[in-house]
Amino acid sequence: MNETMLAAILDTMEDGVAVFDLEGTVLFLNAVASTLLRKKPRRIHDLPEPVLTFFGGVRSGGSETVRLFGRAVRLTYQDLYENGLRTGAVLLLSDLGEQERAERMRREFTANVSHELKTPLTSISGYAEMIENGMAKEADIRRFAERIRRESNRMLSLVSDIIKLSELDERGIRAQAEPVDLYRLAEETVETLKSAAMVRGVTVQLSGESVTVLGVRALLSELIYNLVDNAIRYNRDNGTVLVRVAGRTLSVRDTGIGIPKHHQSRIFERFYRVDKSRSKATGGTGLGLAIVKHISQQHNAELTLKSSEGIGTEITVTFPKEA
Ligand code: ADP
Repeated sequence: MNETMLAAILDTMEDGVAVFDLEGTVLFLNAVASTLLRKKPRRIHDLPEPVLTFFGGVRSGGSETVRLFGRAVRLTYQDLYENGLRTGAVLLLSDLGEQERAERMRREFTANVSHELKTPLTSISGYAEMIENGMAKEADIRRFAERIRRESNRMLSLVSDIIKLSELDERGIRAQAEPVDLYRLAEETVETLKSAAMVRGVTVQLSGESVTVLGVRALLSELIYNLVDNAIRYNRDNGTVLVRVAGRTLSVRDTGIGIPKHHQSRIFERFYRVDKSRSKATGGTGLGLAIVKHISQQHNAELTLKSSEGIGTEITVTFPKEA
């Protein structure tokens, strides 16, 4: 393995890594370490005060939690040896604040998932019980069956979105990236959603030109699908959806209900909805935009939202030059 590869691997680590030689010169610093140290120190003496104090009293293998620019950071020091001779030292920096935040988000997600799954399950079991006990009249049975089917479908969408999100959490995308024609993909997605749009009396139009980006086809297709699907579901009667691919930007604009200002910063969060009943009534899971955000991040694409209540919404995804 060469040095560039090693540096690339160390840059993907969640912990900061800093390597020093015996003279105290910084030989290597990964991305997290530069962020936590707020600058690129060239020598040990350039390090922030709490780290220097830690160095002053520590032995190899020792660790301590310090406050670094307002964050709780666990520092671990280790001597480095080559052929039995001490050649330098390595410092590991773990951002405990970040770990706590990630842990809290995982807990919240689990609680939300349980709640979201329990609601349809409770009604499914309720309707089935009424039929089983003979409490449903002949005329009701068909209606109850329809509700059971609808709630089961909701659970299926939810489970499939949860699986998509956990897959996105698990793996990076670089390995499967290939050149994808964004316009062609948008065309296919618009085609798939044509009948859903027709049912709601919404017209979907596509414009722009062919552009190739480097990405994972299935994920990009999912991203476009979720945006166009929302633009149809949160539209008004006889509304329009304009999908445009121009340059490296894909935009989806609708003439729908819009998103109130104070909700705009939160709609990309998992399970956040402006109007829960409208989302559910139209088959929403509350995860669509979280998936969009995740896929954009994995493609290093920039996501922007413009929306006015009662007028409409536009979401754009801009891919980087090299992607
Ligand atoms: P859902 O499955 O509920 O649609 P999303 O994650 O896709 O979940 O979207 C989150 C929320 O953002 C929606 O519940 C809705 O309130 C709002 N939203 C998303 N897209 C639009 C849009 N095009 N117009 C208006 N509101 C939207």
